[in-house]
Amino acid sequence: MKSLPKRSEVPAPDTWDLASLFESDADWDAALEAWEAKISGFDTFVGTLGSSAERLAECLAFDLEMDREADRLGTYAHLRGSEDTAAAVERASYIQPEIMAIPPKLLSSWLDLPPLEPYRLMLERVVRNRPHVLSEPEEKLLAMQGTFAGTAGKVFRQLTDADLTFGSLVDGSGNEIELSNATFTTLLHDTVPAVRKQAFHQYYAQYQAHANTLAATLSGSNERDVYAARVRHHPTAVEAALFADNVPLTVYDQLIAAVRDHLPAVHRYYDLRRRLLGLEEIHHYDCYVPLVPELEQRHTWDEAVNVITAALAPLGSDYCNRLEAGLRGRWCDRYPNAGKQSGAFSSGTYDSDPYILMNFQEEVIEHVFTLAHEAGHSMHTRLSAEAQPFQYSGYTIFVAEVASTFNEQLLTRHLLAQASSAKERAAIISREIDAIRATIIRQTMFAEFERVSHASVEAGG
Ligand SMILES: [Zn+2]
Repeated sequence: MKSLPKRSEVPAPDTWDLASLFESDADWDAALEAWEAKISGFDTFVGTLGSSAERLAECLAFDLEMDREADRLGTYAHLRGSEDTAAAVERASYIQPEIMAIPPKLLSSWLDLPPLEPYRLMLERVVRNRPHVLSEPEEKLLAMQGTFAGTAGKVFRQLTDADLTFGSLVDGSGNEIELSNATFTTLLHDTVPAVRKQAFHQYYAQYQAHANTLAATLSGSNERDVYAARVRHHPTAVEAALFADNVPLTVYDQLIAAVRDHLPAVHRYYDLRRRLLGLEEIHHYDCYVPLVPELEQRHTWDEAVNVITAALAPLGSDYCNRLEAGLRGRWCDRYPNAGKQSGAFSSGTYDSDPYILMNFQEEVIEHVFTLAHEAGHSMHTRLSAEAQPFQYSGYTIFVAEVASTFNEQLLTRHLLAQASSAKERAAIISREIDAIRATIIRQTMFAEFERVSHASVEAGG
């Protein structure tokens, strides 16, 4: 085993340059102090928001300026691996209630006035929430039950992440492996059918042994959701969940219907899998082992960037040139080092570069896909920041994975066009099928489960 370099040994060009956020930790300290000094500025607006459109606009501008700076401060702290600053913007908590207290007719007449024009959509969103906000004492009572409202979820995580133990077993290469949440997935990829089967039964035996506790946590969690929806006057829990992003219920249901319509294709795939694996019948534990050997292609960082920018050419030269400059420059923290967070993510602010954390390994083709994916998030963030004022630059969870997964699709197409053998093509297609299964089929299955289980609680089940 080659050991990982220490952070101090990683060459600077392989790391991200956080100077677009702050030049140094000292600068960050100074900015944090200045920001904290400005917090009391919120107090000067208390009780005055209903007095005029100009006053309301001034307060919103101040609030957004504070938010924007807090984002920059918090992102730097997060990327440096420190704890997030518990930014006490409790001082701003009067803003929403005061806006709600402005008589609706007066507020809507203000929305057409020039000072409030940039905040029109923001204010419309606040107003939209009006029917779901309760009186002050009621809100206080709700806030007081906030911590223990999450108890069912906490119990579930403590049980499944900490208390359950699964023993050990011998894998297909003859090594004794401790069975855990982490190794379970690896064992389901084992090419020896009996190993997969044993891992599955040994793992789920623990869930079966705690079936009543697990059922109680699930029902507790669903009852909490149904309660929260009802007290805030949402017709159902699913509608409450969709409210903030203003996604129509029909979109949710149509997704489930569309995936269901295409289940015959999924079933054909499972039968193909059964035949290729030479099995009489196929089980859940036979669904992860790769059907064809994975693509063996090495990519240095620069080669990965070449492939990605070539694949993304349909998005235009401006997109590709800017992305390429960022990836070859200092947007990315490229390689693993000791103590570095695992996995990958994209994180940027309105005013900074859209940083990417990677743990890139040259021999892992999947990491080229990961980089294309995170690049999609980063370009989405940057282009959104450039096209929108700060208050509208964020994007909702509903659209957040569009740019990233679309980039993966373009990369798949590109690799297929470049493939020189049927074997290579099979590896790319097989990866693509598994990605569709995980991203579309499985996620929709979760969505349907949530829909059905919450509806059952709402019907008294
Ligand atoms: Zn993503």
